[in-house]
Amino acid sequence: MLATAVWDQGSLHVHLPWSSKAGFRIILKVESTAMIRVNRPPPAMALSDRRIAEMEKQASQFFLTDTRSTRQRTFDFDWPDERIEARILEALDLAWAGRCAFCGTGGGLDIHRFRPEQDAVAEDGGTSRRHYWWLAYEWNNLYPACTHCREAQGAKFPTEEDRVRAGTTERLNERERPLLLDPCDDDPEALLIYSEEGEVASEDHRALVTVETFDLNRPELVLERKQTIQWVRMGLSQAGKALHGRSYRAFADAIQTLYSEAAPFAARSSSIAPATRS
Ligand SMILES: [Zn+2]
Repeated sequence: MLATAVWDQGSLHVHLPWSSKAGFRIILKVESTAMIRVNRPPPAMALSDRRIAEMEKQASQFFLTDTRSTRQRTFDFDWPDERIEARILEALDLAWAGRCAFCGTGGGLDIHRFRPEQDAVAEDGGTSRRHYWWLAYEWNNLYPACTHCREAQGAKFPTEEDRVRAGTTERLNERERPLLLDPCDDDPEALLIYSEEGEVASEDHRALVTVETFDLNRPELVLERKQTIQWVRMGLSQAGKALHGRSYRAFADAIQTLYSEAAPFAARSSSIAPATRS
């Protein structure tokens, strides 16, 4: 019989039918400094403000007019007012638990358009003026992002297939096959591999372009990941020692520390599964 342990609403229940061969595996999901998949909640109410509809109308007039007849080349995609902007950011913050959608760090977030509002840059550096003005206020195109990620991506949006026609809002990723991972559509956790040293790598081309584009191996991120990994290893090693000495109280304490609010990562989706006997 294998040992089972259940983490339930803040307390750990460990059932150990003791035997030297029984054991279990603890899976901790590190969510800070990592890109994770997030299921997008329904659109923020603030997006249905009539002033946003007005901005969209102006943008469509601007981009559907021949550029040669106007001296102004770029459109100013502002938010109608600070309150609307704050509400949208609040909704994004809630969905991503206050973390950047691309690098996973917390704090200093802003609304970011995954597909740029204009002058989208391709892999070869070429730009497309009209991509993607019609998505500037589209909920599915908005993500919370830190300044570093926002600046690192800029207007880069490389795609494998041709860019969609203006006005397209459905099945965008399927049609364009972007070279950047979409945290709401792809599974970054399955594609990105983190080393003990805190660096992120991948065997997947799109994941690699994503790491490069968002600068996901910048020194401060690498250091933070390394420290988190060390912290987790230390906690698990303490738990292991306690278990070995049959000190269940100490074991429970060590596990509890790993799952505590003070932990430098979120363990909210972690699971404990029976280990295979070796
Ligand atoms: Zn970031």
